[in-house]
Amino acid sequence: MSNIVNNLVEEYIRTTLKDKEGLLKKLEEYANDYNVPIVHKEVSELLKVILKVQKPKRILEVGCAIGYSSILFASTLGEDVEIITVERNENMIEKAKENIKLAGFEKNITILEGDAEELLKTVDGKFDMIFLDAAKGQYQLFYDMVIDKLKIDGLLISDNILYKGMVAHDEFVIRRKKTIVKRMRNYLDYICNCDYLDTSLIPIGDGVALSYKIDERGDE
Ligand code: SAH
Ligand code: MG
Repeated sequence: MSNIVNNLVEEYIRTTLKDKEGLLKKLEEYANDYNVPIVHKEVSELLKVILKVQKPKRILEVGCAIGYSSILFASTLGEDVEIITVERNENMIEKAKENIKLAGFEKNITILEGDAEELLKTVDGKFDMIFLDAAKGQYQLFYDMVIDKLKIDGLLISDNILYKGMVAHDEFVIRRKKTIVKRMRNYLDYICNCDYLDTSLIPIGDGVALSYKIDERGDE
């Protein structure tokens, strides 16, 4: 239960969407068994459609975990995509490396090992797409570090923005998550109200924000 949409609706969507095959299916099973928070099925299908339309050549991801979303991106886009992904958890990094090798995307996917707060500073060049999917209390911080690296007409995708519904309504908020929820609300207010982005908030999975970069940030 995600608290985002009615359970019956969510169940219907999940059973109706196409199932993954091969390695991605295996990774979904692993994630389920070991509680790894990979993108929800309905989000993964949305991302695939977006990738096919936008055809990004360079993607920056914050939060690699076991490599599921990186492998999903690479397998959707094929040979020429370059993906840089950041992960700080050593066990996740080890699994991700194994999985990326199994998927045959070692040339396409590079893992930066360590804290995004440090490593994002070292990332060079511009990206067509940026996927934020790491510590939910730090999205604004990550955002400030990456937004200038996103090309104009590029897409910023932020996952888990409704955080089990807690961000949408206090009724769902559990006490120890109050700070994270407050920060996420501030982040969403920011990306929805700045004039150089067009942002859409989508209530699927754990909530997804799609932001299209219209212009450079400039001085605020
Ligand atoms: N994108 C993945 C899921 C990522 S889960 C997928 O959909 O398949 C979030 C991951 O972000 C976790 O593995 C966690 O270790 C990592 N993470 C959280 N905060 C981080 C930070 N500040 N720096 C680097 N990694 C971070
Ligand atoms: Mg996520």
